[in-house]
Amino acid sequence: MAEVIDVSRIFGEDVFNESTMRKRLPKDVFKKLKETMNTGRELDGSIAESVATAMKDWAIEKGATHYTHWFQPMTGITAEKHDSFIAPTGDGTVIMEFSGKELIKGETDASSFPSGGIRATFEARGYTAWDPTSFVFVKDTTLYIPTAFCSYTGEALDKKTPLLRSMAALSEQALRVLRLFGNTTSKRVIPTVGAEQEYFLVDKSVYEKRKDLLYTGRTLFGAPAPKGQEMEDHYFGVIKQRVSDYMKDLDIALWKLGVPSTTKHNEAAPAQHEMAPIFASANVAADQNQLAMEMMQKIAKKHDMVCLLHEKPFKGVNGSGKHDNWALSTDDGQNLLNPGKSPSENAQFLTFLAAVIKAVDDYAELLRLSVATAGNDHRLGAHEAPPAIISIFLGDELDEVVKAIIDGRTIVKKSSYFDLGIVTLPKFKKDNTDRNRTSPFAFTGNKFEFRSVGSTHNVSTPNIILNTIVAESLRVFADELEKATAENFDEVLHSLLVKTFKQHSRVIFNGNGYDEVWVEEATKKRGLPNLVSTVDALPHFADQKSIELFGRHKVFTEREIHARTEILLENYYKTLNIEAQTAAQMVKRDYAPAVMSYQKVLCDVIASKKNVGVDASVELDTVNRIASLSASMLAKNEELYGLLTKVKELSGVETIARFYHDEIFAKMNEIREIVDTLETMVASSYWPVPTYGEILFSVK
Ligand code: ADP
Ligand code: MG
Repeated sequence: MAEVIDVSRIFGEDVFNESTMRKRLPKDVFKKLKETMNTGRELDGSIAESVATAMKDWAIEKGATHYTHWFQPMTGITAEKHDSFIAPTGDGTVIMEFSGKELIKGETDASSFPSGGIRATFEARGYTAWDPTSFVFVKDTTLYIPTAFCSYTGEALDKKTPLLRSMAALSEQALRVLRLFGNTTSKRVIPTVGAEQEYFLVDKSVYEKRKDLLYTGRTLFGAPAPKGQEMEDHYFGVIKQRVSDYMKDLDIALWKLGVPSTTKHNEAAPAQHEMAPIFASANVAADQNQLAMEMMQKIAKKHDMVCLLHEKPFKGVNGSGKHDNWALSTDDGQNLLNPGKSPSENAQFLTFLAAVIKAVDDYAELLRLSVATAGNDHRLGAHEAPPAIISIFLGDELDEVVKAIIDGRTIVKKSSYFDLGIVTLPKFKKDNTDRNRTSPFAFTGNKFEFRSVGSTHNVSTPNIILNTIVAESLRVFADELEKATAENFDEVLHSLLVKTFKQHSRVIFNGNGYDEVWVEEATKKRGLPNLVSTVDALPHFADQKSIELFGRHKVFTEREIHARTEILLENYYKTLNIEAQTAAQMVKRDYAPAVMSYQKVLCDVIASKKNVGVDASVELDTVNRIASLSASMLAKNEELYGLLTKVKELSGVETIARFYHDEIFAKMNEIREIVDTLETMVASSYWPVPTYGEILFSVK
C-alpha cells in the first residue's frame, strides 16, 4: 500500500506563515505585522524585535542554525549569504541571537553582482530589505528571508524591488478606476500570478557525457532521433514510475515550503513535463517559482536524474516555457478580469480588459523584451512557441463583443445580450478561450496567459512590465473618467471604450500565430513590431517612451534602465560566448578525433578489400564524404576561433551582442549542421557523445 501523505499537515510546515505567526506572536504584534503585510508598507520598527525573536525560536525548533537574506540578483536564480545565529557570551559559550535590525535590513558586499555600472567599487555596499508580504521559511538548517536588494544609494540591483514598485503603481491606478465604479471598500489591487513550469528530465549518466548540457544547459549538436514527438503519445500520457516518484518527492518538498504545487503532467516532447502551482500575488508567485526551480533540480539529483530548465535543450524538439497566468484581484477578493453578472460589473470588466489591450499594443516592445534571452530566442517564433510578434487572443465570443462595441451594434446571443449601458456578457467558457495555443498573450476566461516567458526566466521581469504598462493605461483612463459627472459617466465611459478598442484592435488576433501569413499581415498590414532576437528587442528598454513610462510610475529610474539594458545585453553575449567556446572545444577534442578514428577503420577495410580484389567503392565513397565534411567542419571551427578573437577588439555592449548574434551564432549553426550530418554517417560505437535518442529516452 502506498504511504499516506497527510498534505494538510505538511503543507507550509517549514514556513513562518500567517497561522504560525498568529500562534507565536503577541496579539498586538501580530495585528501590526498583518497590517504591514496587507498594505505592503515597511515593517514597523517597534515590533521588529518581537517578530525576529519569535521567528528565531521557531526556526531553531526546525533545526536552523543560520539565517540568510535571500534575494534575486540580475543573474542566476537566487543569491544567499548565510550568517549564524550564534553570539559569543564572553565565557566561551554562545547564545542564539537574531535582532529586529538583522531581520529588516542586511548589508552585503554588492561588488560581485552585476550592477551595470551603478555601483562603483567605492560604494560597493548594498543592502537587502525583507519583503514582509513574502513569508520567511526554513530550508536545510537556514532561515530564509525573502528580500529586496538595493545599492547603498537606493537603486534596485535585483528583480524583486522593481516588481514591488510596479505592484504599488498598478494598485494606485487601478484603485482610481475602481472608485469611479463606486467601489469604496477595496484598499489594494494585487496582480495575481500562476506560473506553469515546463522542464525535461534526463538520466544523469547521459547528461554527464554531454559537455554542452553540462556547460550551457542545452545540446549544441545532435541529429534528430528516429522517434520524436510525432506520435503525440507523450502529452498527458502515463507518467513513468521513476518520473512519478520524482514528482511525488517534488510535491512534498514544495508543499513543506508552502508552494502550492497542484498540477503535474507529461508535456508534448519525450522526457518533458510540467508543474503548475495555485496562483498567488505576483511577488509571492515569483519567489515560489524561484524556489520551485531550485527544488526541481535538487530533487532530480536524488533520483539520479537531471532537470533541464533550458528553453531549448534539444533542436527540433519542443522547448520549455513558463506560462505566466496573470489577473488582477482586489484585497477583498474580486478578480477584476472576471466577467461579472450585473451590467455595472461588466462595464468595469470591459474597462480593465480595454486597459490590458491598450497596454499590450502601446508597449509591445517592452513585453517582447521582458522575455528576451539567448535561451528563449530558440523558442519564440520556432513554430512551437508563441511568435516574437506580440498579439492578443480574445476568443471568438469576447472578440465579437469588442467588435460590437466598435461598430455600435447590440449583440444578441442566446439568452444573453450585450449593449453597453445595460450589459450582460455571455459566459466565456474556458474551453472556448483556451484552444489557441499559438498566441503569445491569451485571455483564458478570467485571466491572461502570457505564454512567451521562458522556462528559466524569473517571472518578475515580465510581470514588472505587465504591471507597469497596465498601470499606465489605467492612469490614462482614470484621468479621462474622473472628468465625467455622475450624469454623463456612462456616456464618457462608452466613448472611451469605443475609442480604445478601435485604436488597438490591430493587436487582437485569433488566428494561427505560427503561420507565415501572420508575420506578413502583422508587420506589413498592422504595423506590429517583430523583434526576432534578443539583440533586436533589448535596446528598446532604453527608448525615450520607456524611460518616461517607468519614471512616471516610479518603477525604474533612467539610470536603472541603462544599467539593466547593459546587464541584459551582457548576459546575452556571455551566454553565447560560453556556448561558442564549448562548441569549438567539442569539435576539436571530441568530434574530430572520433571522425578520424572512424575514417581510419574505413581506410583499413578499403585496403584489405583491395588486397583481396574485392570492390570497395561504397566504403571509398563514404570515407571521401566523411573526409570532406570533416575538413570543412575543422575549417569552420578555426573560423569560429577567429571570430572569438576578433570580438575582443569590439567595444560597446550592443555592438558586441550584435556581433555574437550575427557572426558567432551563425558560424556555430553552420558547424552544427556538418556535425549533425556526420552523426548520421559514423558508426554508433565511434560517436563520442550520447545521441538525442539516447538522451530523450534515457529515463525508463
Ligand atoms: P490550465 O492552463 O492547465 O488549463 P488553469 O487555466 O486552471 O489550468 O490554470 C493555470 C494556472 O493559472 C494555474 O497556475 C492557476 O493557479 C493559474 N490561475 C488561475 N486563476 C488565476 C488568476 N486569477 N490569476 C492568476 N493565475 C491564475
Ligand atoms: Mg495554461
